[in-house]
Amino acid sequence: MQNIPFNKPYMTGRELWHIAQAHQNGHLSGDGSFTKKCHTWLEQSTGSKRALLTHSCTAALEMAALLAEVKEGDEVIMPSFTFVSTANAFVMRGAVPVFVDIRPDTLNIDETKIEAAITPRTKVILPVHYAGVACEMDTIMDIARRHNLIVVEDAAQGIFGTYKGRPLGSIGHMGAYSFHETKNIIAGEGGALLVNDPVFAERAEIIREKGTNRSQFFRGQVDKYTWVDIGSSYLPGEVIAAFLWAQLEEGRGIIDRRIAIWDQYHEALAPLEAAGKLRRPVVPEGCVHNAHMYYILLDSLEHRTQTIANLKRQQIQSVFHYVPLHSAPAGVRFSRTHGSMENTDKLSERLLRLPLWVGLDEHLPKVVAGLNEAV
Ligand SMILES: *Cc1c(COP(=O)(O)O)cnc(C)c1O
Repeated sequence: MQNIPFNKPYMTGRELWHIAQAHQNGHLSGDGSFTKKCHTWLEQSTGSKRALLTHSCTAALEMAALLAEVKEGDEVIMPSFTFVSTANAFVMRGAVPVFVDIRPDTLNIDETKIEAAITPRTKVILPVHYAGVACEMDTIMDIARRHNLIVVEDAAQGIFGTYKGRPLGSIGHMGAYSFHETKNIIAGEGGALLVNDPVFAERAEIIREKGTNRSQFFRGQVDKYTWVDIGSSYLPGEVIAAFLWAQLEEGRGIIDRRIAIWDQYHEALAPLEAAGKLRRPVVPEGCVHNAHMYYILLDSLEHRTQTIANLKRQQIQSVFHYVPLHSAPAGVRFSRTHGSMENTDKLSERLLRLPLWVGLDEHLPKVVAGLNEAV
């Protein structure tokens, strides 16, 4: 019997062709012609002022932390139900993640709990668009405006998702994408920072280029380049950008194929939801998701553990997700919570992610049948 993996990276077939072209071009360091193509594509498709490829979403978040100028003891409000990098990028600058609870419907940060968590040290609000479903951005942007805070969107899972017609990652002052091989659009390891507020654009280029004004030099805006600020090396080489370009070119098609699978799951699992055996994902009005993930919520941790084991016996791989950061060892050391974490604690124990990858279509009946037996 064939094993059905949880994830299988999709490749368009053009990646190697573009990489050969990069090889031929002889420009292998960063910011060559493929990087420029990716930048232009990201800027045009999101409306962001400046898109910059990075090694990872983690690197893009680190850049955002530098640009937001968070200092020792500054606070960043974020969900605990997220990947470690959301917090770590800011902890590395001495900032303190302040976790607030998530909404039971989308598992995104509960926007109604943010304002009460603001203190004089608060500098940034960091919404994470879980599963490519948008946070309630109008409310979050309004709170940020009134309290003079910077909004950084962790849109690692969010490319091609929208909120009231606006691309995820393009709504806050900055947004971060991931092109890790587990995401929808991939480069192996890779990411991008969207700089939406032009105030940060020039410094973003400098921080990404080791603290030099090299980008301006290449555009002929200065006649020599030199050390002007703090910074690091956050730009990927052209081989990665060439790979990514093949994915972006076919991006819409990749997302549509994922959505077709997501829709089939959603329809096929409706009877199990009606029978009270599981809960399906909720996509609020105004949010268009990108089919990053299909998850279900079971009624308890025990039931989830049994379901994973049962599916595994049927050669179907399913996985749980984040251990809430506030209960992780480093979370206890570096961060604090504000208010109850009830939804975070309960829902993270009940969540189960099902296989979703381009090409899963032919195996989908088996996964659905397996789940009917397992739950
Ligand atoms: C994947 C992910 C990241 C990290 O992305 P990398 O590109 O691997 O650094 C950060 N935040 C969230 C929510 C993610 O899903």
